[in-house]
Amino acid sequence: MIKFEDVGKKYPNGFEGLKHVNLTIEQGEFVAIIGLSGAGKSTLIRTINRMHDVTSGKLTVDGVDVMSLSGKQLRRFRRKIGMIFQSFNLITRTTVIKNVLTAFVPDMPWFRSTFGIYTKEEKLKALECLDKVGILDKAFVRADQLSGGQQQRVALARTLAQNPQIILADEPVAALDPVTAKQVMDDFKRINEDMNISVLINIHHVDLALNYATRVIGIREGEIVYDGPASEATQEV
Ligand code: ADP
Ligand code: ADP
Repeated sequence: MIKFEDVGKKYPNGFEGLKHVNLTIEQGEFVAIIGLSGAGKSTLIRTINRMHDVTSGKLTVDGVDVMSLSGKQLRRFRRKIGMIFQSFNLITRTTVIKNVLTAFVPDMPWFRSTFGIYTKEEKLKALECLDKVGILDKAFVRADQLSGGQQQRVALARTLAQNPQIILADEPVAALDPVTAKQVMDDFKRINEDMNISVLINIHHVDLALNYATRVIGIREGEIVYDGPASEATQEV
């Protein structure tokens, strides 16, 4: 469970990216965060894994105060949270499966990570994750030979390999054409429903948000202006 209690985020230049945010997100929810460019969607999502620090109020994940974590605790905490970006962030010059295997590196002893030695279990798990997003047949293809939609699926598989409890996705379909965007949203939906992983997606396509999410959060100038079921959300946010 993710809980924001009167959370504020002031950037070093004094700009308030978030103001008085109160939210409770239960395990297994599929939440779309919508709003204009610059509204604070990225800021909101990035406070959850502490890519950004909150500067007032309290943010807890599973009862743990996120701002109290440091060093090893913070690294372990981040393992529970998958992050997906608009730009996929793959190692493009290597194979798909090697990209997915990088998910295991933080937990590996130094000699295995240095020499890129993976166990049979890790390889099987990587293949299983590729299968979950429908691109098992691309496992041994170089990542830069895939389409944008396929690359985003590799990123999803890599995230799944870390057994996340939450997936944060910052404009994951913004760089994709409408048909591919829907396919990637289908993957998020399936992962959310089959694996009970909470999914929080920043998205500027309101129609996609309404079609896929069960809950929509609208944000404007750092403030929550709508929070409710997708079925009741209007385009005004
Ligand atoms: P969105 O994801 O909705 O497009 P962001 O969360 O990226 O919006 O940004 C919200 C606001 O915070 C914007 O006005 C942006 O310019 C500002 N902002 C983002 N990062 C910083 C920063 N490091 N310092 C100052 N202002 C920032
Ligand atoms: P991304 O695509 O990764 O969200 P952005 O283009 O939004 O990146 O921002 C790039 C960097 O610039 C981020 O670290 C962000 O915090 C910072 N930034 C964004 N807007 C501003 C701003 N108005 N003032 C200062 N820094 C900003």
